[in-house]
Amino acid sequence: MKKYDAVVVHFGEIWLKGRNRGAFIQRLIHNIERNLHGLSPKIANKRDRLLLYFEGSKELSNSLDRLQYVFGISWFGPVKIAKNAPDDILKAANSILSKNETVRLEANRSYKEVPFNSREIINLFIRSKNRKFNVDINSAHTMNISVIKDFTILCADKHNGAGGLPTGSSGKAIVLLSGGIDSPVAAVYAMKRGLDAVYLHVHAFDTNKKASSSKMRVLLEKLSRYGPAPIYYAPSYLFQSATIKIPAKYELVLFRKFLFRLAEEIAEKENADAIVTGESLGQVASQTIPNMTAAQQGIKPIIIRPLIGFDKAEIIDKAKSIGTYEISIKEYKDVCSIGVKNPSTAMDASTVNRLYADCKLDQVLKRTLALAELQNGDQSFRNLSKSGV
Ligand code: ATP
Ligand code: MG
Repeated sequence: MKKYDAVVVHFGEIWLKGRNRGAFIQRLIHNIERNLHGLSPKIANKRDRLLLYFEGSKELSNSLDRLQYVFGISWFGPVKIAKNAPDDILKAANSILSKNETVRLEANRSYKEVPFNSREIINLFIRSKNRKFNVDINSAHTMNISVIKDFTILCADKHNGAGGLPTGSSGKAIVLLSGGIDSPVAAVYAMKRGLDAVYLHVHAFDTNKKASSSKMRVLLEKLSRYGPAPIYYAPSYLFQSATIKIPAKYELVLFRKFLFRLAEEIAEKENADAIVTGESLGQVASQTIPNMTAAQQGIKPIIIRPLIGFDKAEIIDKAKSIGTYEISIKEYKDVCSIGVKNPSTAMDASTVNRLYADCKLDQVLKRTLALAELQNGDQSFRNLSKSGV
């Protein structure tokens, strides 16, 4: 194991945020501390990057597994720190590269008061007789050399960050989470654009406890690698018995309206700004424009559908890469209405509203909310599993 001094974290789009930049960076620091819980890094803000210092090399290398899930990071990696002096920079490079390893050099100098520019650093490396490694402009392996005010940072092990914006920097959303493939992927994309997720799962069990010890628990554990995963569990049985008499083909859209109303109430309680779903256009009967329009009528928070333009195959690929696919395809006790054979593809809002009133769903909503239970995701967050992805 090479001896590194710190881990460098470069920001993604935070750079674009002008006057709010400071707040974004503070949010990112907070999220990194939360994600690296137990590894206790000391974090130094060096203008356009962060440096994370750890007590030991084990903590440092463990942090690399976890940083890949923090949104707002363009790239990160373990670094060696050298004085702003050519000899020291070369010595540091020799210490993090193996003998005869080949690298492409990438140098930048944000501090202009040193007597050498980035081109000269590269030339120095190329000409030096004390160099143990090889330099080749075509190598796929890059060593980054950044000269900043206090010192020079060398990184020969660049990891891609998750991109996006720090979660929480865009607000909070109620994420409608089913046991299926799509909604966990939608959740990750929502978090990627800076939303904190509060999940809502409506289940077909007789108790919330059964739902929370089902595969949903495992699913949330995966999602909690990206951010905290508090979840509301609410039963569907009151809805099911209230709608038992209506034509089966209408039940699907009615259930969606019911889901949105539940989410709207929870959004108010949670001070959330948006609702997120895993809908994609035309994928299933409930996801036609008329049905989506009818189901969302009168719902105040913005409804965000991150997967709207995705093909199922693309969603599946993403689900595999975030590690949720295998969990999603496991058998699950779904809410019955979803299994209807020939659902209406073109319901209008007035029919939905009439059925909603006929079935007294506002009362059902109140009673269902009274049965809903919040489970905090913090606990699973501490058991971050290293597997997956
Ligand atoms: P998914 O794979 O996410 O289940 P789907 O293709 O099966 O999606 P639908 O069943 O029409 O499509 O559900 C569309 C969206 O509605 C889901 O992505 C999810 O956001 C939300 N949703 C569906 N069922 C539930 C549920 N029982 N609890 C909470 N949200 C749900
Ligand atoms: Mg589904």
